[in-house]
Amino acid sequence: MAATPPRAIAAAMDRRTVPPKLTLTERPEPPAPAHPRRLMESGHDRAQGDTCTICYLYVESPVGKHSKMNVCCMKRVCNGCFLAAHQRGLLDRCPFCRTAIPTGDAAELAMIQKRVDRGDAEATQRLGNQYYHGELGLVKDVPRAIELWTRAAELGSVDAHNDLGFVYYYGHGVEVDKPRGIRHCQQAAIKGHVESRLYLGLVDYDNEDYKSAVQHWMISAMMGHEDSLNLIKEMFKEGQASKAQYAEALRGHRDAVEEMKSPQREEAKRLGV
Ligand SMILES: [Zn+2]
Ligand SMILES: [Zn+2]
Repeated sequence: MAATPPRAIAAAMDRRTVPPKLTLTERPEPPAPAHPRRLMESGHDRAQGDTCTICYLYVESPVGKHSKMNVCCMKRVCNGCFLAAHQRGLLDRCPFCRTAIPTGDAAELAMIQKRVDRGDAEATQRLGNQYYHGELGLVKDVPRAIELWTRAAELGSVDAHNDLGFVYYYGHGVEVDKPRGIRHCQQAAIKGHVESRLYLGLVDYDNEDYKSAVQHWMISAMMGHEDSLNLIKEMFKEGQASKAQYAEALRGHRDAVEEMKSPQREEAKRLGV
């Protein structure tokens, strides 16, 4: 029979395969409800994490489609800057920090875990996603994902608030808790998360508070969110948004989209990067 390894070694062996449990209370308190005025007056600029770390431009929504975040540094790089780096011959390194891109799930997971251990908000949110979807060889584990997103939100991840909002509101893998979901979306929207802003408008629409729904979608449309602009158009057709609001949303959306364009990004789109 194999000897029992000393405690420290056993812990280290555990750490190689099982990420350490985070010290969270059993039932973390949901965020406090946002003050209605603060909710509408904040978050008109997008979250800082939505910019490309190389060209400093905001990334089009959905940001996951138009950019990547390498696990080495967890810095967002847009498809245009990825293409430019590729064209300069930087094929297997992160365009931002020049670390070699990990090959294989285990190497990628180890890099993420290292950053999670150091209290990196974005890496903790990312690991939550991997558990939620059962990626990188992990077994799908929604409670673990929620635990990680809760920790990431505490550490300042706006995306983690959005993820928590979504799962609690719709009850995806967890018992439905709409008020808790809404509060998380409010926290994300206040910090400029466009999808959370869209959700909040949908919630108001379901509750037949059309005026508030339009206010939310105006904010996200002006940040360049196309679905929100289309919703304002529908509301205008239904008589719930004024012609002036629709015109303002169109102008604001167009300007935001223009500001996100660059020759590199256009080329990346043409090449399907
Ligand atoms: Zn860029
Ligand atoms: Zn990097």
